[in-house]
Amino acid sequence: MSYVDEVIELVVKQNPAEPEFHQAVKEVLESLRAVVDANEEKFRREGILERLVNPERQIKFRVPWVDDKGNVQVNTGYRVQFNSAIGPYKGGLRLHPSVNLGIIKFLGFEQIFKNSLTGLPIGGGKGGSDFDPKGKSDREIMAFCQSFMTELCKYIGADTDVPAGDIGTGAREIGYMFGQYKRIRGLYEGVLTGKGLSYGGSLARTEATGYGLLYLTEEMLKCNGKDIKGATVCVSGSGNVAIYATEKAQQLGAKVVTVSDSTGWVYDPEGIDVALLKEVKEVKRARLTEYAAARPSAQYHEGRGVWTIKCDVALPCATQNELLLEDAKALVANGCTAVAEGANMPTTMDATEYLQQNGVLFAPGKAANAGGVATSALEMSQNSERLSWTFEEVDSKLQNIMVNIFHNLDDAAKRYNAEGNYVVGANIAGFEKVVDAMLAQGVC
Ligand code: NDP
Repeated sequence: MSYVDEVIELVVKQNPAEPEFHQAVKEVLESLRAVVDANEEKFRREGILERLVNPERQIKFRVPWVDDKGNVQVNTGYRVQFNSAIGPYKGGLRLHPSVNLGIIKFLGFEQIFKNSLTGLPIGGGKGGSDFDPKGKSDREIMAFCQSFMTELCKYIGADTDVPAGDIGTGAREIGYMFGQYKRIRGLYEGVLTGKGLSYGGSLARTEATGYGLLYLTEEMLKCNGKDIKGATVCVSGSGNVAIYATEKAQQLGAKVVTVSDSTGWVYDPEGIDVALLKEVKEVKRARLTEYAAARPSAQYHEGRGVWTIKCDVALPCATQNELLLEDAKALVANGCTAVAEGANMPTTMDATEYLQQNGVLFAPGKAANAGGVATSALEMSQNSERLSWTFEEVDSKLQNIMVNIFHNLDDAAKRYNAEGNYVVGANIAGFEKVVDAMLAQGVC
């Protein structure tokens, strides 16, 4: 049996009931076959793949907090410190009822390669809790965040592990967590990113993932003789990534015609009104029905359906496994030429294969959505310098990073005879740097 197959089997055996983690490991290791086969003897001797798929540390803890009725609620908190070969652990905190150890491990594993691809010195980690922020009062959110950080603060620090936001963790939650960290540890340091501008946050961090997605998509299209300008784009989700992907796509001359949330989706043939979308989602924190009610050209549909709309470019920006094989078939039938993942692992493996086999350009999330973590690393740099850069400075660094990422993965794919396969390219480019650092640091 090949080394790759052995390790995939081992991961399934050693981590039962963690399907998302199995999926992530399988997807990455399958696409690394060429590199692993070429170095099999050395990698086996060094236990490289076994070390790579085992987190350096995983922390699971109780998060008790008191709700508005005076009752104690108990959630579970996680932080998986996956790999620190190239820098301090870095990765977001997800607050969502679906969170479990397997999901955090899949996200942390992917984060290793994503962070490596940015070219910045950051290792891979991820954390979160099964706490559901929906419907909670501001006081309850604060109570949860303070309790969560009371335990988490023992394991993180500006030079060891720097968490950020993710689903359910926005500026408000980061603020409460930062306050609690400072209070307990007595340190004013860049321990979290995604902070408010008044206390060490970076300009352009809010926009970074969505904007970065479009910078990479634009470059990928350009290098394949296509143009984002004039393209019709379908976006899923209506959170942070989706909103700023929509904004940048429209700035670059594309027309975004869909957005969605967990209950339904909007088709707006006139093009999504970003200001209205921000008002509904960022200010009122309301459902998309409110968008449709305020916009005569928009049609609201319950359930799923974004990928049935005809488009040139599809940008899944909601959550994992939201673009299925049947969706990929509908996109291909409607003439879609490019898919770039704003979310983490939104496309299932069979859907990805179908898209690639049918000539659709496919940019995987670990490259396409790396703008968020890259800008988080820029926030860390500014915190270390005790300086703040302008929006334009950060945005132009972000643009350079995304263009470089695309060329790195394009080159890596070409080196291993997989030209145009950006999944293979991204995994190889991310992997090479991490393995190089792991080998140099000895058995650890
Ligand atoms: P948000 O919480 O801001 O938004 C998530 C969006 O996805 C919401 O519109 C949400 O709808 C929708 N959604 C969630 N679950 C489902 C579901 N099961 N079906 C359909 N829609 C769903 O998160 P972000 O925008 O920050 O993150 C989106 C994705 O991008 C995640 O995969 C995240 O890991 C990834 N990502 C985010 C980065 C960032 O900087 N924010 C960086 C890199 C990756 P509803 O409001 O109804 O729940």
